[in-house]
Amino acid sequence: MDSELKKECMVCGRLVEQSQGIHLLQHFICNECEQEIVTTGTEDEHYRFFVKRLHLLWQDLSMERVIP
Ligand SMILES: [Zn+2]
Repeated sequence: MDSELKKECMVCGRLVEQSQGIHLLQHFICNECEQEIVTTGTEDEHYRFFVKRLHLLWQDLSMERVIP
């Protein structure tokens, strides 16, 4: 019954069980994307895609920092 607890991955957009990913603020990234981000080189085309997707997250993180 707790299989309903799924979140949308902010990178690939799939619905993934919450235990199969990580939460960053209000965002969620599935384990697969997290692994890909970690293993993708900075010169890889994929990396740019991830950076684009994660830009939202960085924005939120820097906003958090601005608030004392
Ligand atoms: Zn994902």
